[in-house]
Amino acid sequence: MDVKPIKTRITMISEKAICPYCGKEVYIENDASPFNGELHTEECPNCGKIFSYTVRVVTEIDTYKCDCQLKDHKWEISNTSPKCFSTMYCPECGERRPLTEEERKKYDIPSREEYFKNLNSSSSEMS
Ligand SMILES: [Zn+2]
Ligand SMILES: [Zn+2]
Repeated sequence: MDVKPIKTRITMISEKAICPYCGKEVYIENDASPFNGELHTEECPNCGKIFSYTVRVVTEIDTYKCDCQLKDHKWEISNTSPKCFSTMYCPECGERRPLTEEERKKYDIPSREEYFKNLNSSSSEMS
């Protein structure tokens, strides 16, 4: 399933700042991610003075349509390795639940007990 996030904010800073000397707006472009809280400098195009600034990163929230509405989950098997740790997973709300016996057979997933039993027997064969 192809779920496209709807971005509510971008991470590239291209914001207007206020020059602390002349009070005019200055347009600043910067990559916000690695420089949180560090000082940068910019020359004001209006008064020509250098001022410093810090970038504050705002938490972003991506929203998705949750068509299951927590009632009609679209259960898919998770790709967990080893397979015995697989769970059923709803890609729309993130809900997880253990496999039923029928699903275990359908997807050919061993139970954890079977898995560890096989592990022990194969390692004892090796030694
Ligand atoms: Zn200025
Ligand atoms: Zn769901």
